[in-house]
Amino acid sequence: MAHKVIRNMISSAMVLTLANTSGVAFAQFAMHKQNYGLSSVSLTGSNVLLDKWNGPYGGIPPFDRVKVADFKPALEAAMAEDLAEVNKIASDQAAPTFDNTIAAMEMAGHTLNRIQTIYGIWSSNMSTPEFRAVEGEMDPKLAGFADQITQNTALFKRIEAVYNSAEKAALAPEQQRLVWLYYTNFVRAGAKLDAAAKTRLSEINQQLAKLFTQFNANQLSDENDRYLELKTEADLAGLPQSLRDAAAEDAKERKVSAIGTIANTRSSIDPFLTYSTRRDLREKAWRLFINRGDNGDAHDNNKIITDILQLRAERAKLLGYPTHAHWKLADKMAKTPENTMDLMMKVWKPAVQRVHEEVSDMQALADKEKAGIKIEAWDYRYYAEKVRKAKYDIDETQIKPYLQLEKLREGMFWVAGELFNFTFTPVTKVPVYHPDIRVWEVKDKTTGRHVGLWYFDPYARAGKRSGAWMNEYRTQQKLDGNVTAIVSNNTNFVKGKPGEPILISWDDATALFHEFGHALHGLSSNVKYPTLAGTNVATDYVEFPSQLLEHWVATPEVLNRFALHYQTGKPIPRALVDKLDRASKFNQGFATVEYLASALVDMKLHLAGAQKIDPDAFEKQTLTELGMPSEIVMRHRTPQFGHVFSSDGYAAGYYSYLWSDVLNADAFEAFTEAGGPYDKAVAERLRKYIFTVGNTIDPADGYRHFRGRDPQVDALMRKRGFAPAKAPTKTGFKPPPPKSAPKPAPKTKVKRDSRVDN
Ligand SMILES: [Zn+2]
Repeated sequence: MAHKVIRNMISSAMVLTLANTSGVAFAQFAMHKQNYGLSSVSLTGSNVLLDKWNGPYGGIPPFDRVKVADFKPALEAAMAEDLAEVNKIASDQAAPTFDNTIAAMEMAGHTLNRIQTIYGIWSSNMSTPEFRAVEGEMDPKLAGFADQITQNTALFKRIEAVYNSAEKAALAPEQQRLVWLYYTNFVRAGAKLDAAAKTRLSEINQQLAKLFTQFNANQLSDENDRYLELKTEADLAGLPQSLRDAAAEDAKERKVSAIGTIANTRSSIDPFLTYSTRRDLREKAWRLFINRGDNGDAHDNNKIITDILQLRAERAKLLGYPTHAHWKLADKMAKTPENTMDLMMKVWKPAVQRVHEEVSDMQALADKEKAGIKIEAWDYRYYAEKVRKAKYDIDETQIKPYLQLEKLREGMFWVAGELFNFTFTPVTKVPVYHPDIRVWEVKDKTTGRHVGLWYFDPYARAGKRSGAWMNEYRTQQKLDGNVTAIVSNNTNFVKGKPGEPILISWDDATALFHEFGHALHGLSSNVKYPTLAGTNVATDYVEFPSQLLEHWVATPEVLNRFALHYQTGKPIPRALVDKLDRASKFNQGFATVEYLASALVDMKLHLAGAQKIDPDAFEKQTLTELGMPSEIVMRHRTPQFGHVFSSDGYAAGYYSYLWSDVLNADAFEAFTEAGGPYDKAVAERLRKYIFTVGNTIDPADGYRHFRGRDPQVDALMRKRGFAPAKAPTKTGFKPPPPKSAPKPAPKTKVKRDSRVDN
């Protein structure tokens, strides 16, 4: 259920966190619970959380009257109400129809949805010890609640009857898809099984949950208990002062007498491998890190992985799928594991080719320095950093003065006006949960039609989680009246002094546009049923609209108007932007290969079926067959692949980062091939087939309508620098009238591929 609350985050690490908390395979099964501000019976007069949302815009969340003590009684009452609604549907004496079963499910549970929305905001934005105590008690209850619905046999029989009925063919396409989605998700959770099989399924899920916990604990202890000791000043050679300080602090915390210690985590090891001039220590650090969970001791994860894979294979068979990978892909855009393998193998070869080029650049540098070495895996980051410094060095302090948070927000609004015909007007009479939060009303520029509300919670504070994310407070739907969307964007910028502009990094500016892309996806939604609305789309598709919007921050139109120096008011120089663009392609061979090696091993492990797998041997053989460059190791070796083995979240799903990036790169070229990033006709197709349709159509069909063809991988190859850039324009390109504005450069893409960084 938590899956609904904080759906999208900028860092995949946070997506991982989400996947871990969202209840295994059953994450989707709160599907009928979209929050919409319809009236419902108020169960008590004193608990504001149980009341429908009142006020303007079809009702707004009563953030000013929330009391933490109200959450538990409100959630319990709302769960009981929801269960009663669902039981009423399940026990209906009338023959099952779309209206009395599927549409009725869409109408159920809105009290619970409203409360969970606010509960989720308190969890991510307003957490306190008092609230965490409530969470500790209520989270397991909420998780168990979803099962009570999916395991309702009478309910499933009715859904199945509608799915198999003659009536279905006569339903509107959106309704047919909704029936398919309900049916598929119930089947995927085991609704079709007989009592004995259901018992076995539940045993498997419980065993898996235990194994996930053990896997996680083993990995954590290898990360916490093992470390690299730096004994003398010479061991610190090459490390910048900030790393020396951190190492000294780490040693102090461990009560180790060494001059410093390097923790066995990515955030400590990667910088050490990047800067340490001590090759012997780099090798030691590298080995420490890549052997997490693989040391043949009490914390070894190999046996656990074997067991997890066997249980997953058994579960998939039980549920009627050939392998876990097939089960996983059934409701994704990619549809089959074969489709993901095809895509990954298309990118693999050119990425490996690029790695060979990167290595030879680095080898040349090492030879020039008379290092007398052959580049090994523990040298990669060190020499890559030297090449980067020589070729692409960018000084963040040169860029930041041009990136003012509030100016960029205005830039986002301007882009939304150009692409989506939206206007944003600040509103003040809407309650907020903290004085720093501001709210805008979104309207259609031409008709003045109310579109929705956009809340902005920009600053870091105690009790707010790190990172950036989008949140859907209310999902658009038209099942009962015209319910408009309420969405929010959340970031963690440090609040400046009053009147002083907040200057942010290029990555942060990109992240800002990314989250705004999710918000626009939610706001643009124009569908009838809440389960199919807004950002409720397949997990390998949901990041596509947001990744796509990142491109617009780098368009000359935005940079010239909104990336203005906070003192001089002058726009960011083109030369600086070009430098960023060039740097975005640096080291993409390494980044792509270390990611893809993990994604390929993930998929192959879950295609292997019931065979008893020795993870180390399987990994070694797979990489040999693939021709893995010896200078690179998987980003996540199997014994430490938490995405895949600390929950079901990304198992046979690690490919999704690449999948959505292919769509993203290909879709942006639709603009550059036409009149540029603000081409009206392409923007109209983007709205019509991607942003407004939610999950009412197969995303592959939606994409085809938008692009006129299936996505092609070539654009991604260009984006990552694996293929030569296209000539910037094609026939039909009409440059904007010259006027007095500085001349726009047609090439506009500047993006670092941070989504792969997880
Ligand atoms: Zn996102």
